Amino acid sequence: MQLEGIHHVTCITGDAPGNVDFYTRVLGLRLVKKTVNQDDPTVYHLFYADEDGSAGADITFFEYPGARRGRAGTGMVHTISFRVASDDALTFWEDRLAAESVETRRAPGRLRFADPEGLGLALVVSEVADEPLVAKHPEIAPDVALQGFDGVRAFAGDPEPSRSLLERVLGFTATGPAGWQCRGASRGGLYGYDRAPAGAGMPGAGTVHHVAWASTMADHEEWQRQVSEAGMHATPVIDRFWFRSVYFREPSGVLFELATLGPGFAIDEDPRHLGEALILPPAFEHLRPKIEPVLTPLPDPRAAWTA
Ligand code: ZN
Repeated sequence: MQLEGIHHVTCITGDAPGNVDFYTRVLGLRLVKKTVNQDDPTVYHLFYADEDGSAGADITFFEYPGARRGRAGTGMVHTISFRVASDDALTFWEDRLAAESVETRRAPGRLRFADPEGLGLALVVSEVADEPLVAKHPEIAPDVALQGFDGVRAFAGDPEPSRSLLERVLGFTATGPAGWQCRGASRGGLYGYDRAPAGAGMPGAGTVHHVAWASTMADHEEWQRQVSEAGMHATPVIDRFWFRSVYFREPSGVLFELATLGPGFAIDEDPRHLGEALILPPAFEHLRPKIEPVLTPLPDPRAAWTA
């Protein structure tokens, strides 16, 4: 039984229109589901991914309109990395982000920047054979497009208490003193810790809420049992309609989720029209008349493509 790398990473935005613009128009991801937070249905949950809405490429945001900016601290993910194909792709992104007045820092094989709310992002030249998970975009050729997650890094005072959970329970493999790989039959992803900065972290816009690791449908309940037995106070399996989820806080304080590779985003929407309409899971559909008027209106990011 192995986890299949990162399933999704969920973050917080205070500005849904700006968030849609940055992740779709600038970074070229596809808005694959426009729905609400199932724990607070008065706010959006926006999902961006590759063309097919695949796990492994899925960065999601809870919107809290006007939320003030947070800051990553101990027990919080501070950087999300996406793979790209080559150094030429990094050069493309260096130029494209400069044209959008986004500051970047280039290092060998890597380009760092932040989203408009300060969320730490990086593009990394891929060194793995995993299938590239790419979205279509009129200005971004497939050979330079984002290919899905490479990994996430979090802050921890001392990562040692997490080691046993990561290696013995979740099956991660150490890649360095504070770095691990989570790799299954189909995909892998990296996880690591850096020394926490002075001052406490503060959740808010531009911070990561949780990182989800991918499980097959068949293994999911067994993962819930194993994580619970390891003393992680895991939630029961929660049905999120597009996938099933178990949540727990790992020993360094980062909120982990184990999410199933299915049923997927096409279960209730035509794959050609993912993300265009507000979709509510069946259990929330009766709330639509109350929810729709209070949500920030959002454009269909692809509407202009054919205009
Ligand atoms: Zn999640």
